[in-house]
Amino acid sequence: MNFHEYQAKRLFEAYRIPVPAGDVATTADEAVAVAEKMGGERWVIKAQVHAGGRGKAGGVKLVSSLEEVREVAGNMLGMSIETYQTGGRALPVNEVLVAEATDIASELYLSMLVDRANRCISVIASAEGGVEIEEVARTAPEKIHTLHVDNTEQLQPYQCRQIGFAMGLDGKQVRELTHILLQLYQLFMEKDLSLVEINPLIINGEGHLQALDAKINADDNALFRHKDLATMRDTRQEDPVEVAASEHDLNYVTLEGNIGCMVNGAGLAMATMDVIQLNGGKPANFLDVGGGATAERVTEAFKLILSSDRVEAILVNIFGGIVRCDLIAEGIIQAVKQVNVGVPVVVRLEGTNVEQGKQMLAESGLAIIPADNLNDAAQKAVAAAKEGAGA
Ligand code: ADP
Ligand code: MG
Repeated sequence: MNFHEYQAKRLFEAYRIPVPAGDVATTADEAVAVAEKMGGERWVIKAQVHAGGRGKAGGVKLVSSLEEVREVAGNMLGMSIETYQTGGRALPVNEVLVAEATDIASELYLSMLVDRANRCISVIASAEGGVEIEEVARTAPEKIHTLHVDNTEQLQPYQCRQIGFAMGLDGKQVRELTHILLQLYQLFMEKDLSLVEINPLIINGEGHLQALDAKINADDNALFRHKDLATMRDTRQEDPVEVAASEHDLNYVTLEGNIGCMVNGAGLAMATMDVIQLNGGKPANFLDVGGGATAERVTEAFKLILSSDRVEAILVNIFGGIVRCDLIAEGIIQAVKQVNVGVPVVVRLEGTNVEQGKQMLAESGLAIIPADNLNDAAQKAVAAAKEGAGA
């Protein structure tokens, strides 16, 4: 689960990680009230969307009067923002953060993440942060310092100091960085996070460190024990089809291709996607309807798949291990009748009562294309999708 910058900064504040003063607003009036209450002469209005790259996309604006706060916040609210991190989607701006404008002496980079390859939590830091961090990583990777945290020793102050000195900070700043890193690590562990990114972490006009931006990602599988985090979820920022899927406990991920996949079991779903690719096709989604695929779930799954107008064919690949194939066949027949499926449906069934299931599909009178095995199914789906796309 992703968080907005203002939510992440609230968590930072709770863990005594310094951030610029600021508050969230949903209307231009509220934005002015926040700026007025905060005082000062210069503020930054920041679009709250689940993506970085806002600065370059016009989602971060410096203003120097209350009239300007009203105008800029008013324009930003209701707008949609597409950045290089939004994957081609434009995200709605329903909230803006009104923050004090900070004097920036330099912009650093700091992140902490679950590092699967090294089976630990890693800290990544660079003295050259800001909106060009990807460029630094590409052209000057030696400027990026990585620290692997030992899972039993945990993060130690001396390691934080090493990072600070490697970044060229002075003694006082190294102490501040050590504090920030240790607090960040505590936040990371206590809230079961998978990523924290502070870009930029700045040295302000007085030489102190401050988190100017904040990005947090929490592990969805641990949300049940963090009700406080779960309430911060903003589904308006998420793919609507994925949101609908999660309401029905279906594991669904939107992909680029045109073959809709309905499979039971995550492993079988991945194998199905592989075999589609091997046969020259591209899956439109990953979908695991779960072990106990019932008629209702199959119907919901068809609706989800068909909500994308890219889908030219559907491949149903079900292994009847826990469920019986005749029940699945019944579910498919019901669903196809109910949902009015307008694209070819290739079905591969295997497992308990498979013959009975196949017979039911054959006798249903529906235009279902039966397949004998996974490869046969993928070939038929790829051919059907090509025909549908007019190729
Ligand atoms: P994004 O990563 O989405 O582009 P950031 O929050 O990192 O958004 O902001 C982009 C840039 O805007 C920062 O690198 C910084 O230069 C400037 N900026 C952001 N917040 C402030 C602030 N409170 N005061 C001054 N400048 C800011
Ligand atoms: Mg940033």
